[in-house]
Amino acid sequence: MSQDWNQFVEGELSRLESLDRRRALRRIFARESPLVEFRGRRLVNFSSNDYLGLSQHAAVTEGATRAIARAGASASSSRLICGNSDLHEELEAALADLKGKEAALTFASGFSANLGLLSSLVGPGDHIFSDALNHGSIVDGCRLSRAASVVFRHNDLDHLEELLKDCSGPGRRLVVSDSVFSMEGDLADLPGLVSLCRRYDCRLMLDEAHATGVLGSRGGGLVEHFQDGGKARPEEIELLMGTLSKALGSFGGFVACSASMRDYLINRCRPFIFATALPPAVLGAALAGLELIRPPSKVRENLRSNMQRMRSRLARHGLGCSQGRTSIFPVLLGSEERALQVSQRLLDRGFLVAAIRPPSVPPGTSRLRITVTASHSEAQIDELVGSLTEIGCQAGS
Ligand SMILES: *Cc1c(COP(=O)(O)O)cnc(C)c1O
Repeated sequence: MSQDWNQFVEGELSRLESLDRRRALRRIFARESPLVEFRGRRLVNFSSNDYLGLSQHAAVTEGATRAIARAGASASSSRLICGNSDLHEELEAALADLKGKEAALTFASGFSANLGLLSSLVGPGDHIFSDALNHGSIVDGCRLSRAASVVFRHNDLDHLEELLKDCSGPGRRLVVSDSVFSMEGDLADLPGLVSLCRRYDCRLMLDEAHATGVLGSRGGGLVEHFQDGGKARPEEIELLMGTLSKALGSFGGFVACSASMRDYLINRCRPFIFATALPPAVLGAALAGLELIRPPSKVRENLRSNMQRMRSRLARHGLGCSQGRTSIFPVLLGSEERALQVSQRLLDRGFLVAAIRPPSVPPGTSRLRITVTASHSEAQIDELVGSLTEIGCQAGS
């Protein structure tokens, strides 16, 4: 590195440091879920997205090992060259079924699925309407697409409608939203989005990363959650994107869509075309994960009752700003410094709860993001909330 580059890099790091925004990796050893080991200590993990505890589930790890034994460690090429296998197609059929769509297609990650979908479906002259709190991969997908991206205030459908009214002329229009917002834990108003899309001739794309496996009678996600109440149908949503790396306990992204959309993506979506196919191990793990969420699912039942317990315990202490319909419970603290402080005190008491700071959330809204999983015990939930109150942690303080 030349002198200038060093100065640039060091300068940027010290700037982040002075803002309490410099981040560093911590070496965490996964133990039996929800336990992890960090610096030789056992901690109860309240930060992971492994909502059903499947990453450590014997059936899932065995699914991965069996697939490796049969097909090796790598797919060795992209799907179109020679990387496609029966496991990919079996998994995609199961995902399409879970989502109530004709077809599904897997990607190297949820991040690259979002980049690929947005950049291959809209372009210059088109418009994307995107919720202000959408995931970073959606923001980057909008940029990569070179379509005009129009941001509406979080979950504010009146604002979205104003923006849609202002946008006339040719070009495709796509509305994109997280199903469950990753740092808020709240739900998108799906029936409202669907009806605006119908009125203004737009298509809808949902990111079901935190909803798949968590919401809906079969773990199908937000669409199924509303479908259960007769308020939505999968046909109304063009693209249902998701990830295998959260509740399903594995790795990789996917989209559920029509069969012709899948064919289009296979031909046009660059992150699909130019990346090596998912390896056997993650496919085997994901297939086993899907089996475990099939009703009646013990892990989903555990998660549901833990979500309820977390919501009621937090609410009792005035800490709940979440409606508790998802596994994500933010505790807003405001400054970066405060969030770091509370996170450190929880660490001292044996809990891993990450402080979430900009750029993951807007400035001034640093927070703890508590996630509850199927593997937590009632006592662990009660002890965490007890510690929060002992630390004197109050929402907004
Ligand atoms: C985690 C996440 C992604 C990215 O998925 P990966 O499979 O981890 O790359 C995309 N969207 C949302 C909302 C997420 O939370």
